[in-house]
Amino acid sequence: PPHPSKPRAARWDHHLSAESAAREPCVLKSAAAKHLGRPGLISLGGGLPCPEYFPFESISMRVPRAPLFSERETAESGVDVTIGKYDASAAGGEDKVYDLSIGLNYGQATGSAQMLRFVTEHTEIVHDPPYADWRSCMTVGSTGALEQAFRMLCDRERGDSILTEEFSFSTALETAAPLGARIVGVPVDEEGLVPARMDEILTGWRPEERGGMRKPHVLYTVPSGQNPTGTTQGEQRRREVYDVCCKHDVYIIEDEPYYFLQMDPYAGPEAAAGGGKEPATTTAAPVDPAQTPVDEFLDRLIPSLLSMDRDGRVLRLDSFSKVVVPGSRLGWVTASEQMVERFLRHAEVANQGPAGFSQLVLHRLLDEEWGHEGYLRWLMRMRREYTARRDVMLAACDEALPREVVSWNAPAAGMFHWLKVDHTQHPDAGSKSIVEIEEDIFDRCIDKGVLVARGSWFVAEHGRPPTNLFFRATYAAAQPDKMTEAIRRFGKAVRESFRL
Ligand code: PLP
Repeated sequence: PPHPSKPRAARWDHHLSAESAAREPCVLKSAAAKHLGRPGLISLGGGLPCPEYFPFESISMRVPRAPLFSERETAESGVDVTIGKYDASAAGGEDKVYDLSIGLNYGQATGSAQMLRFVTEHTEIVHDPPYADWRSCMTVGSTGALEQAFRMLCDRERGDSILTEEFSFSTALETAAPLGARIVGVPVDEEGLVPARMDEILTGWRPEERGGMRKPHVLYTVPSGQNPTGTTQGEQRRREVYDVCCKHDVYIIEDEPYYFLQMDPYAGPEAAAGGGKEPATTTAAPVDPAQTPVDEFLDRLIPSLLSMDRDGRVLRLDSFSKVVVPGSRLGWVTASEQMVERFLRHAEVANQGPAGFSQLVLHRLLDEEWGHEGYLRWLMRMRREYTARRDVMLAACDEALPREVVSWNAPAAGMFHWLKVDHTQHPDAGSKSIVEIEEDIFDRCIDKGVLVARGSWFVAEHGRPPTNLFFRATYAAAQPDKMTEAIRRFGKAVRESFRL
């Protein structure tokens, strides 16, 4: 273990699905990992093609020089980088050099040693998990990683189920459904998942009242900028969630694509708009990425579940999608050695690790050009950009939405704004269901030229009608003036439907 002074993680054998427990190591990969480092060994073992047949001599790109990250600065003073095919042999074969001949060949399903080293160091800097035998493993992004994690933990024959926020990321729900894993929604408040309600659900669980469903043993949660509710769990909330999971032997999947998009409090016009109060989770004054020390940025982040994980019961999903590029299809998981090993056994026979092109390009940017500090400065910039976008959206909502029926909390992280519409005041509330009113507003939105996501799309429990009317609006996609216009159109659609 890299940290012998820390305790080791607990064992999670009883949580594994039969499918996961049955996975055997790939014989070809194990032989390669064991013997290929031996000096003078001539391999006739694995089918690694010769790099001389790779039709790529070099890859060139222009990237920002940290901390001068804007497009204008990059055009003026960016760095031109070339990755050659045989940089390593030209440099005397130093293992530090990561070139096309290495990066474009087959590798371990953990991801390349170079990329894995970078994310492991990053994980140590940001989370420093409190147990000894934690590991990271590269993934093809959190969508695929979540499918692997669910299949590792959920067993159809065992009647397994998954706890999650009562409104949850629709793709996660669509991932669980065909695996036969049923979803149990936990109520949320302005700080997300409510631990006391989760405790109640688990304490009062009777399989016979739940169609034979076993007591849930997995929690899937998005603690920062949850999709779709935009809620962020504060530190105390996270500790309570963790403790309830310990009490009931629940294994945690922490999905954190928005972790670094934790924002400054909204200071715009009438910040407590719509009766919503500012969540207690936001951090202090604005951060200038070029001026503020990175330690200050790190200190202000709400600690992750991974950072408080004394048992090794958390499998954390990280992704470069929201903070670098979604098309990289690159992320990583962090968990105990036992769980990462099971995860890896699946990766070996599924995606075989992330693409070489992607790992080479991101590694060159993050490790060689920016380094950890430069990357953290980039994350500080992303956080500031999203804070500005959120503020534009909130100001537009303040200006254009009928407060008598629409209310919201200011998001403290992420990309999503969750708007509650008081369906009880709708003129047709007596004759129409929530979903029918939602549909009426949605259709009017489309007529007026704005697309929002309907709350009912995210209801965690299959077939359960929503008890309130919500719409999700993202401030990630549109330019600020378009965003303001879009919110005006949404406001008109609501007014028209409510005949205000
Ligand atoms: N998890 C959550 C909560 C998300 O909102 C998203 C993207 O919308 C993802 C995972 C997908 O991430 P990736 O691009 O890494 O597959």
